[in-house]
Amino acid sequence: MAMRYIPEPFRIKMVETIKVLTREEREQKIKDAQYNVFKLKGEDCYIDLLTDSGTGAMSHDQWAGIMRGDEAYAGANSYFNLLKAGQDIFGYEYIQPVHQGRAAEKVLLPLLLCEGKFAISNMFFDTTRAHVILTGARPIDCVVAEAKQPAARAPFKGNMDNAKLEALIKEKGADKIGVIITTITNNSAGGQPVSMQNIRETAAICKKYNIPYCIDAARYAENSFFIKRDEPEFKNKSMREIIRETFSYADMFTLSAKKDGIVNMGGLLGVKDEKSKLVTDIKAQCINYEGFYTYGGLAGRDMEALAVGLYEGIDEDFLRYRIGQMEYISSRLEDAGIAHQVPVGGHGVFIDAAAMLPHIPYNEFPAQALVIELYKEAGIRCCDIGSYMLGNNPDTGEQLKSEFEFARMAVPRRVYTQAHFDIVADALIAVSKRAKEIKGYRITWEPPILRHFQASLEPIR
Ligand SMILES: *Cc1c(COP(=O)(O)O)cnc(C)c1O
Repeated sequence: MAMRYIPEPFRIKMVETIKVLTREEREQKIKDAQYNVFKLKGEDCYIDLLTDSGTGAMSHDQWAGIMRGDEAYAGANSYFNLLKAGQDIFGYEYIQPVHQGRAAEKVLLPLLLCEGKFAISNMFFDTTRAHVILTGARPIDCVVAEAKQPAARAPFKGNMDNAKLEALIKEKGADKIGVIITTITNNSAGGQPVSMQNIRETAAICKKYNIPYCIDAARYAENSFFIKRDEPEFKNKSMREIIRETFSYADMFTLSAKKDGIVNMGGLLGVKDEKSKLVTDIKAQCINYEGFYTYGGLAGRDMEALAVGLYEGIDEDFLRYRIGQMEYISSRLEDAGIAHQVPVGGHGVFIDAAAMLPHIPYNEFPAQALVIELYKEAGIRCCDIGSYMLGNNPDTGEQLKSEFEFARMAVPRRVYTQAHFDIVADALIAVSKRAKEIKGYRITWEPPILRHFQASLEPIR
């Protein structure tokens, strides 16, 4: 039985019209886009679930912040407002605004990594993986085994495999590990949460071997909600307390504010200890790449909206409604027997395309094939989180085989309602009924890194 949809804890006072193309029009549009959904126009998508990044709806308080923005080059009021919010929420001394999450990675990772070194994570997000490779270092994923079994219900499937982590450190040598990163929630594993206990254990390992510990914090608020819901020790703790404790275990964080910060553009880099030498280097890197360290690639108005959004994103009622949306979609899929990552994660529903399309091998990109069918079926845009996204081995050029083949339906914050999600579920059900007819794809052109954004594909006849 589909669960009850949790009503929106807000009302709507500004709207944007969306249109539906005909099936024939959609088939032409996706062909013209070389079967790459990143090359579709936004206006040609009826329900756009490509990403929850920067696609949220800002509140009236955030828009008021936009008007208040102080555009002084150095030392703007809006910077100090953002600094105060960041210090208050994360408990870190140094908060660096940057223009988005990958900018934080670009500024920070070359300070920790170089050729011959390794970075280990529960799972790297694609831009983080790319920035590790750009420093000359190599990324290693170290997620628990449950993450790779989409149908296996277990809490905290995003956790680091800490036993494997310690074995890896011993194998490579602690001095070769430049940084250990816990991604919360674990985006690439389906937005799966990481438990506080797991973070504590990873932190203890980092301390033992004197390795810097970083949190990739894009969805820290959603992760904290899961900790409260599923980790008994935190049942009576507030979001604020859980967030403070989470960050207390790390030395630094990178954060894409386009997710739980509910802004359309922005990011943060945090360092616990302001006196750390790292802060001096971050400021220098930031001035080179992002702009002066009191704005870091953001307009004053953007910093003001983020200072407000940080608080709205950690509101427990908001998070209950948001996670409830994923649970609602998941319950409808469960009724229809459509395999997906369960329990459902924080920011989207990850459909197990390998289970729906077992006749398409990984190097013909089953998840990408499902993504294309959903666009043709109902104008829904989502994306591949599988072998197509993973790309090639940087040393051999060979296609890598992903641990999973997910079609990710990411849900923008405060944008769509229950009726939209019913259309999504109905479309998936319709596609699954004709799964056998769906064919794989081949790549006809690809760039060397982050290829899924730009590559061209064609169907295999
Ligand atoms: C989105 C994201 C990033 C990159 O942030 P951008 O704002 O897109 O540059 C890094 N890590 C994780 C886990 C993310 O979800």
